[in-house]
Formats: sequence, C-alpha cells, structure tokens
Amino acid sequence: MSSLAHRRLKPVLHAFLRQMTNLSFFLPGRERKAPMLAYHRVCPLRFKKEFSYNNVFPEEFEKQMQYLRANFEAITVSEYVRKMAANLVKGNEVCVTFDDGFKDNYIYAFPVLKKYGIRASFFLTTKYIGDSRPFPWVLMDRGGRDDFSKNPDRWLPLSWKEVGEMMDSGMEFGAHTHTHRDSLSNLSLEDARKEIEDSTRTFFEKTDTRPVIFSYPHGTFKDYDPAHIEMLKGHGYLAALTTNMGRNGSSQGLFELKRIVVYEEDSIWEFKKKVHGAYDVAERLQRIWLNAAGSKKLSDYAVK
Ligand SMILES: [Zn+2]
Repeated sequence: MSSLAHRRLKPVLHAFLRQMTNLSFFLPGRERKAPMLAYHRVCPLRFKKEFSYNNVFPEEFEKQMQYLRANFEAITVSEYVRKMAANLVKGNEVCVTFDDGFKDNYIYAFPVLKKYGIRASFFLTTKYIGDSRPFPWVLMDRGGRDDFSKNPDRWLPLSWKEVGEMMDSGMEFGAHTHTHRDSLSNLSLEDARKEIEDSTRTFFEKTDTRPVIFSYPHGTFKDYDPAHIEMLKGHGYLAALTTNMGRNGSSQGLFELKRIVVYEEDSIWEFKKKVHGAYDVAERLQRIWLNAAGSKKLSDYAVK
C-alpha cells in the first residue's frame, strides 16, 4: 500500500480502533496486566495545527494523573521490570513514560506528577539535551512558529540541570538514542551501535548514573531488530520500550515491552479504556497495518 493511502486511511483505522476497543473492554477473563503509557509533549498549544505535535494539554494530563492516582500504583519502568522478574506484578501498577526529552515535560508535567505522587520515566535524545534550539525533527507550522517566538522555552529540549532536579524528585531517566535521526532498523548495524553507545556514554557523563532502560525511536516492531536487543544487553540495559500496543503479560520479553500512546484527542473515557486493557486486542491489527506498509520507512505513520 502506498504511504499516501496509508496516511489517508489512518483516521479511519483510529475510528475503527475506538469502536472495536469499546466492545473489547467488556470481555471477561483477562490476565491481570499493568499498563505503560507513552507521552511526548505536555503543553497548551491552542491553535489549529497542520500536523500533530504529539501533545497532550496540561488540563487533560492532570485529569489523567488524578485518575491514575485514585486507581493505580504508579511506578518507574525499572521498578516494574524488577517486579516482573520476581513475579510480583499485582496488576494495579502503571508506568507513565515520556519520549524525547522536551522541556515542557519539566514545565507542565513535572509539577502535576509531583502533586499526585507519580514517579514517571523519561527517555532522552541525549545529543540535544541542554540545546537552545528545538529538536531538529520538530517542524513548525505557522501557529507553532508564532508560539515559539512567544514561548520559546516550551519548544526546547530539557536541560541537564532540569534532568538532575527531576531525578532528585524520584523521576527515572533512560536513553532514546543520541540523535533520533531514524528508527534503528533503518540504520546500518554500525550506526545503530553508535547511537546506543553515544547515548549511553553521554547519559553517564552528564548524570553520573548508568541508564538501564531504553526506548526505541518510533518504537514499533519494525523499528528494532534482535541485533539491537543484543547491543542493549551488552551495554547493561535491563529492558526496552516499544510502541507496540497493549499491556504486558508475565511472559512479555523485557526488550519488547508494550506501551499505549496517549493522544491529544483522547477523552477521559478513551484514557480509561487504554489503562484498563481495551487496547490489548489492537496489537494484532497494528501489526497487520504496519506490515501492509511494506517498508521499514515508517516515520510517516509511527509516533516519534
Ligand atoms: Zn522519540
């Protein structure tokens, strides 16, 4: 299928997913599993956008965290992995994760996370942390450019000082490659190794701690290979996160942990469906969809 057809069909697929998951939500007898949520930006971008900024509004984010606080125990990914290894997952755990390392995570999400006692996990594109320019892949439409001139801070990457402050408050950090220039599967093995090595080394130099959790750029099953998993193990990682949809059962491979991406358009009902497992049935459909794309160049469809 052409990438254009794929892009055009995407809203149809999302609408179908919402309907299908409404039904699956009521299926009985599901294994007790813990959800991992994937966020990117949390920011009040109130303008009509030409394309997605992978953003959730701060008010929505607060409602979501309030719900998690009341219904789950929020733990970091490495805590979850330790519980999995010891067979201690109860099913009331949740992991809140953020990819890329946007400064808006510090400005808008961090105060809310502290308020509700949620320890989240953040995955950094290490080369750009501390930069005074936005990440190179953030293309701005007119609204974005206007907003950048008024509120430059919220378009920038985190600084290492902010990372340190968040770590001191119990937040966890891991690596998300050094440059995020492509999915690992689109790089030569040598370049993929360099992305992993450079991010691991930079993280250690800047924070004096070793990253133990990795998040794959783009993150679908087409964006990493077994060879990358071996590289990560060789660098001391305990687990890695994908954007393969659904929650993780006890037999889930630790280097292919599934997550559910939260979108700007998600109502609180959609959010509840996501955390209570309604999207567990969607992974198969996601695989069919991505296989139909027929190429590893998935940047057009996959979330960053
Ligand atoms: Zn990313």
